[in-house]
Amino acid sequence: MTDVTHTQLFIGGQWQDSLSGEEFSICNPARPDEVVGFAANGNVADIDAACESAAAAFPQWSSLSYQERAAYLHRVAEHLVADAVELEKRISLFTREHGKILQEASIEMRRFGDRFLLCADYAERLEQDEQLQGPPFDTVITRQARGVAALVVPWNWPISILGAKLPQALMAGNTVVIKPSKESALAPALTIGRVAEVLPAGVVNLVTGSSSRIGDPLLTHPLVRTINFTGSVPVGRHVMKMAADNLVPVTLELGGNDAGLILEDAELDADAFRRMYLASFMSSGQICMALKRIYVHRSRYDELVDGLSAVCSQQVVGDGLLPETTMGPVNNRGQYDIVIGMIEQAKRAGAEVRELGQVPDQDLYDRGYFQKPTLVLNPDAALDIVKEEQFGPAVPIIPFDTEEEAIGFANDSEFGLCSSVWTPDRERAMNIARKLEAGYTYLNGHGPLAQDGRAPFGGFKSSGIGRNLGFEGIQAFQEPHAISAPAGWLL
Ligand code: NAP
Ligand code: MG
Repeated sequence: MTDVTHTQLFIGGQWQDSLSGEEFSICNPARPDEVVGFAANGNVADIDAACESAAAAFPQWSSLSYQERAAYLHRVAEHLVADAVELEKRISLFTREHGKILQEASIEMRRFGDRFLLCADYAERLEQDEQLQGPPFDTVITRQARGVAALVVPWNWPISILGAKLPQALMAGNTVVIKPSKESALAPALTIGRVAEVLPAGVVNLVTGSSSRIGDPLLTHPLVRTINFTGSVPVGRHVMKMAADNLVPVTLELGGNDAGLILEDAELDADAFRRMYLASFMSSGQICMALKRIYVHRSRYDELVDGLSAVCSQQVVGDGLLPETTMGPVNNRGQYDIVIGMIEQAKRAGAEVRELGQVPDQDLYDRGYFQKPTLVLNPDAALDIVKEEQFGPAVPIIPFDTEEEAIGFANDSEFGLCSSVWTPDRERAMNIARKLEAGYTYLNGHGPLAQDGRAPFGGFKSSGIGRNLGFEGIQAFQEPHAISAPAGWLL
């Protein structure tokens, strides 16, 4: 429990200290005075070294065939879980620095390799050039890797999110420089190191450190040819401005305020409530694709509030390392303050707020960044808990009267990441889904447990630009290249 981990940078095939020798500390959000470890605090010179190393590795990596790169991706997937003792340590380190319960940390870590295998499966499809037969021209459309990709991931789901961009970038033929968040850098650094270790030197590089010091130098580095960012809307806007300097394409996966529409005929049994609870509260609600606004037909409102309250009441809030805990703390003080602020605002406005769940260790609860699973009943639509992304363990429940009204509520948002429709009526579900402004609509489910890992993922409006995952997620790291000649000669 008292282990202190030190992680380094990984550049040019080697673990190394930052050039300044500096580190920064990461604390346990369940026990904020406990330092879990120290990560290397990179600076501009480290970013230069990482980008140069990635650029040097690019010609050889990009000239491998898709099958050859797929073979490397298979090796990565094996290596990630090859040492059971190392893996267990990495998982518990992840829980300690992040706060998420051990079971979630374990799933996130153990499923990471699956994303590499999914990408490797696309090798044959990627080999197929498109052909346009003449006259007047015969044209072959191939795709080329862009070059060095800068990958920036947030703290909430650093490994899963990396799984939506790193294997894709590699399969497409790019080399990468990765910057994790200072709020969860240790277990991600060790995991990225295991990926990098089995690849040719320079293909995967890792720089940890303060965003104010290394963020912009990475985004504007002349050797970076594409940026793939996941994080908040304000930083996403900033990334796009920075990318303008070198005219570098961006993929932005930003915030969400996902609505779920529970229709009058929805099947609301114990299993549905459990799935709905997890959709909103898994990882203490700190998931981009979490169910963040629940709209329910007025005729089912009381039933839904009672059902969800019952599931929330069973939860045990505490240290994620303890086996009985089902919900851990919020990851950091800033995020905790945002969520608490929204709950307090709703209380002041007169909304009924139910703070549910059990707290076995009140002293720990008071010291850490804990908040019980919280339901905010029928709040005014102008309140932040409805309008903004809460990114924490609180969800508003709001009744509606007609289908049109429900669709209007869902789309009345600056965000458009995901949404869901809950009804046994397939045709109606599809009709409503087509009207929702979202990159992904789940039917009778919501969030990670309802997500098809083969499908493209991304958002409308302020939720982002472009797509990760799926075949589209690989193509996002490439440029089309047309090669043509007068008809009859090439094809
Ligand atoms: P954030 O503050 O925007 O940070 C995201 C990442 O960007 C972190 O690694 C951060 O590093 C880094 N960063 C900050 N300034 C930078 C700069 N100038 N240059 C380069 N990198 C910079 O977001 P967050 O608070 O970590 O994450 C929560 C947000 O992410 C939520 O809005 C959530 O919805 C969103 N998110 C979206 C998706 C999706 O797929 N759409 C998935 C997960 C999360 P530091 O933390 O070290 O400053
Ligand atoms: Mg909200």
